[in-house]
Amino acid sequence: MKIVSTVKELTAIREELKGSVGFVATMGAMHNGHLSLIRQARIQNDTVVVSIFVNPTQFLPNEDYEKYPRREEADLKICTLAGVDILFMPTCEEMYAKTEPEILAPKNLAYILEGSSRPGHFDGVLRIVLKLLNLVRPTNAYFGKKDAQQLYLIQNMVKTLFINTNIIPCDIVRESDGLALSSRNIYLGEKDRVQALALSIALKNASQAIMKGEREAKKIELIMLESLQDLKVDYAKALSRNFEAKEQIIVKETILLIAAFVGNTRLIDNLWI
Ligand code: AMP
Repeated sequence: MKIVSTVKELTAIREELKGSVGFVATMGAMHNGHLSLIRQARIQNDTVVVSIFVNPTQFLPNEDYEKYPRREEADLKICTLAGVDILFMPTCEEMYAKTEPEILAPKNLAYILEGSSRPGHFDGVLRIVLKLLNLVRPTNAYFGKKDAQQLYLIQNMVKTLFINTNIIPCDIVRESDGLALSSRNIYLGEKDRVQALALSIALKNASQAIMKGEREAKKIELIMLESLQDLKVDYAKALSRNFEAKEQIIVKETILLIAAFVGNTRLIDNLWI
């Protein structure tokens, strides 16, 4: 595995690559969710490129940028064992100039749900993903459904800016008890860890109600809220897969989305119905 920290070196290596390139963008502190993306990339491509970069522009001033878990040594081991060919670990100075064009996520999509609590977050996400896609020029780029709104915005950016990369959505990896894996789960204390299960339980209860025939979005949202009553809920929504509110749920066209605080930790989860 080649470890690369400069744009210059990555560009030179990319020039020489033949065949398909699979790319996984991460902020490190890797878990089996990241690993599942890397594995899929490994199976489907000649070369696998992974980036680790805790991107400052996607954190709001009051968020956990400084505190965000950094696990360089463990991440290196995971990437080596997973057969990653090129690991790109740039500094902020390498990725950002003092003056550069602004990238703004579409207002209607970027300021609802995650974007409503985290205004500007998706501007930062699209800015770094665009830079990384321009550098790596991957054939296929792998993103988790765990960050469903992020995935949708990236798909929209790639399509509308005519970027020549296939965006491959990857299933959410969960603990055996249902908790969706997240680098932020390490913030959870013992009691929080139990409470955090409410998110996946809420999604399961809602999906069971849908399977039994309930189609009213508002009722499904109430079912989720009931399961989340011990948590501070940010949102619990049943939306179309293009993130529009609909009165009636249509199976195979719906996504259930939750964000809630467990203690001070904000967790998200979703289920594609
Ligand atoms: P992050 O390091 O949090 O920026 O995540 C890097 C990539 O891993 C993103 O595409 C995430 O959606 C994806 N990811 C994070 N958690 C999971 C999970 N539990 N299952 C699948 N993919 C995930």
